[in-house]
Amino acid sequence: MRTSALQYLACPQCGGTLVADTGPPSHDGHIMHGTLVSSCGARFPIRDGIPRLVLPRSSQVPDAGSLITAARFAAEWTIFDYRASYYEQQFLDWIAPLVPRDFTDRVVFEGGCGKGRHTALIARYGAKAVVALDLGDAVNVAFAATRHLANVHIAQGDLVQPPVARAFDIGFSIGVLHHLSEPQAGFRSLYDRVRTGGRVAIWVYGYESNEWIVRFVDPIRDSITSRMPERLLYWCSLPPAAALHTALRLYRVPAMADRLPYGTYLEYISRFPFREVHHIVFDQLVTPVAHYLRREEVERWFATPDLDEVTLAWHNCNSWRGSATVCSHADAGARDRREAST
Ligand SMILES: [Zn+2]
Repeated sequence: MRTSALQYLACPQCGGTLVADTGPPSHDGHIMHGTLVSSCGARFPIRDGIPRLVLPRSSQVPDAGSLITAARFAAEWTIFDYRASYYEQQFLDWIAPLVPRDFTDRVVFEGGCGKGRHTALIARYGAKAVVALDLGDAVNVAFAATRHLANVHIAQGDLVQPPVARAFDIGFSIGVLHHLSEPQAGFRSLYDRVRTGGRVAIWVYGYESNEWIVRFVDPIRDSITSRMPERLLYWCSLPPAAALHTALRLYRVPAMADRLPYGTYLEYISRFPFREVHHIVFDQLVTPVAHYLRREEVERWFATPDLDEVTLAWHNCNSWRGSATVCSHADAGARDRREAST
């Protein structure tokens, strides 16, 4: 981490500022080891260049399930740690209606960064700073991929209680909220850290048209594949990935995709190389938690007086892409007071 990250970070326990107790930085300006100290007395290590802002297990935040999910995804990003040129178009499709120039000179919070593939793009779009958070050790992969970028700050922490200040022009989360025990709590935390007038953008799995996954794939994922050692799952997911990759050839035939099941999405991924198809299959099977969200549910998340200029779009006929402008934090404040009094 660079000391310039401290202006964006906050204690996950009390929300207060953090002070670095460290030795001199390394040759490229990163503090590789040390301690961050909060005014409340809490202390958090900086290890391998990354501030580890996770509360002790006894705090029950994050919950054990979230830690297991984060560990599974950390293994995924360590195995599938490559970069690909098509990631940029995929990101732009997920983040729309935001476009690259929306990130220029902005301070951006990424809720769930995985291997940092989107982090690096936003840095390139000229963001003033990107603070990219992940709960698991995927942060090690993200840090290795972005440590040369002066405007990127990688941090380890829980999106439900994010260790960052309300200092951001944009807060976004791609493909992460549906893996939280309480997706809406993660969404609230995300926009809570965006300043008034800033934007929030998310992409989550949809329920509509994914009923077959919920009915047929989820029981297998839940009882077998999410419990398998990740390396074993890597090999076990090869045969279904090979079958899918072969079937995807049909979806590249002009006018065929419209007539085939799940056409929009499968036509979209039919352009990907085999390793990406393998990654997609692995990704579906590795996680212990996956929520498929109905439109009404995602609409409810956005139906707060704190958000304005809401857009909600059906992406690839299998997922929801939403954005809004944060116009106040009054509703969140009132909710916090209500919850504190009960
Ligand atoms: Zn504190």
